[in-house]
Parts: sequence; structure tokens; C-alpha cells
Amino acid sequence: EEQKQYWLPPMARMEKIGAFGLTEPDHGSDAVALETRAHRVGNDYIINGAKRWIGNASFADVTVIWARDDEGNVGGFLVEKGTPGFNTGIMTGKVAKRAVWQTDITLNDVHVPVGNRLALSRSFKDTALVLTATRSGVAWEAVGHAVAAYEIALTYAKERIQFSKPLASFQIIQNKLAAMLANVTTMQLLCLRLSQLEAEGKMTAAMASLAKMNNARLAREVVADAREMLGGNGILLEYHIARHHADIEAVFTYEGTDTIQSLIVGRELTWMQAFSHR
Ligand SMILES: Cc1cc2nc3c(=O)[nH]c(=O)nc-3n(C[C@H](O)[C@H](O)[C@H](O)COP(=O)(O)OP(=O)(O)OC[C@H]3O[C@@H](n4cnc5c(N)ncnc54)[C@H](O)[C@@H]3O)c2cc1C
Repeated sequence: EEQKQYWLPPMARMEKIGAFGLTEPDHGSDAVALETRAHRVGNDYIINGAKRWIGNASFADVTVIWARDDEGNVGGFLVEKGTPGFNTGIMTGKVAKRAVWQTDITLNDVHVPVGNRLALSRSFKDTALVLTATRSGVAWEAVGHAVAAYEIALTYAKERIQFSKPLASFQIIQNKLAAMLANVTTMQLLCLRLSQLEAEGKMTAAMASLAKMNNARLAREVVADAREMLGGNGILLEYHIARHHADIEAVFTYEGTDTIQSLIVGRELTWMQAFSHR
């Protein structure tokens, strides 16, 4: 509660920025096998390891570093900006989500007080609780990209004249627009229901994964159809659809790839785990 009171109100006011450091150079989908260590010495943890892809970490006031303690249990550790041994490098060459800076982090003998361990983080299951919440957010994010793409395509189809008529007057174009709207509406309804369940405290990991998987897939289709509807202009930045087209590839992959989401849903359906680090 103390940690929440200290960090969350200023974060909500955007006075403080946070970052979430789970993925490592050698552990993406199998983050459960993360290798970053938090060794307890007196009243400190000493953290060593590396993280990759971490959004905002180059300037964040605090980064939650997920690391394994001496007992082998995973916990979240608050590492504040400027802590000696915490070094970041901005990843370059990224073609999607360019508004966010992804960061490589190295942690060399980073000392944090024991009080900086997130109080209820005692195993990777607690990390997974965070991912359930963020996957629900990414399902909504996919809706945002799809709605934007659909609206850009609809506007363009009404304005662009070919064969002396607006594109929107052709049957095949209308058919595509209708399919896009059907996908968008399906995504919105799924998200609405997921958020209702979340508000009631009933959202499970599989529900969040199902929504993230479904919406990222459908958004990818909608955005690709919209990009195509703009013809050559669809690859120009000024029409914005190219940006959504690139960004949706990142959405498809982060917070757990499409495949990993399907395996989480599959585990719930069959009670058999198709992925394991052992
Ligand atoms: C733009 C962006 C922002 C990100 N931000 C953050 C962040 O802020 N914090 C953070 O911690 N991480 C972040 N990530 C990391 C992201 O969560 C990982 O990229 C993602 O989990 C996939 O890991 P990977 O890239 O290592 O791919 P890999 O795990 O190497 O996967 C490669 C391919 O293999 C497939 N695959 C893997 N395992 C299996 C299996 N068992 N069966 C079948 N197929 C499999 C995957 O589905 C994928 O298609 C970000 C990534 C991106 C691209």
C-alpha cells in the first residue's frame, strides 16, 4: 500500500513515468525462465542481469525489474532512475510504435533496499497477474488501431474517384468496408464484455488472452484491408494508415505473441500445457 501511495498518484498525474522490465535478450515468450538475479545481502537486494525491449526505461523515474531471488522465486523490484549499475541504451531501427523508446537494460550489482520488492510478488504467477491486466489493455489498443484504419479507409473511399465514380460506390469496396465494420464491432463487444468481467473481478488469464489474440488478429486484417484500399497512398506516412499497419505488427507480438495467447487459452480448454520451459 505504501508503494502504491508513493508511486501511483504522481504517475496518474504524469509527473512520474514507470517502466515494466520483464523480457530479456534470451527470454521473450519463455519469460518464466528469466535469468536476472536478485541476491539478498542484509537489507538490500543486489540485482544482476539484462533486459530488452523495455518501453520508457531510458528516462523512467522507476522501472519494475522482474528477477529471481535466492530461493528461485520471481519478484518485481523497483529500481529508481540513476541507481548505480542500472544502465540503458535506446534500441534503434524500430519500424513500429516509433513514438515509444524501447530500451536495452544492463544491471550490474544494482543495490535496492528490501522494501523495493513489490510486496505481493512472490512467484511468476504474480507476474502473470500483471500480464492479464495489460493484455486486456492491449485488446483495447487493437480496437483503437482498427477503428482508426476503418475510418481512414471509409473517408478515402468516399473521396477517391476512379472510373469516374467514388471508390465507395463499387460493390467490392462496400463489401470490404462492411467486413471491416463487422470485425471492429466484434472487437468492441469482446472488449466491452471483458471490461465488465474485469470490473466484477471475474476476468481470468485465459479471457484476457482470448481477447488479446482475437483483437490483434482482427485488427491486423482490418488495417491491412484499409491500407490496400488507399492504393499507393496507403504506404505514404501522410495518410497515417501506413503507421497503423506497422504498429499493429508490434501489437500482434507484444504482451505475449499471438501463438502464446492461443496456448494460454488452449491450456484452459484442455488442462494440458503445450508450452513449458522444462
Ligand atoms: C514494440 C515492443 C514493445 C515491447 N515492450 C516491452 C516492455 O515494455 N517490457 C517488456 O518486458 N517486454 C516488452 N516487449 C517484449 C515482448 O513482450 C516480446 O517481444 C514478446 O513477448 C515476444 O518475445 P520475443 O520477441 O523474444 O519472441 P520469441 O519468444 O523469440 O518468439 C519468436 C516466435 O516464436 C514463437 N514461439 C515462441 N515459443 C513458442 C512455442 N512454445 N510454441 C510455438 N511458437 C512459439 C512466438 O510466438 C514468435 O512467433 C516489447 C516488444 C515489442 C516488439
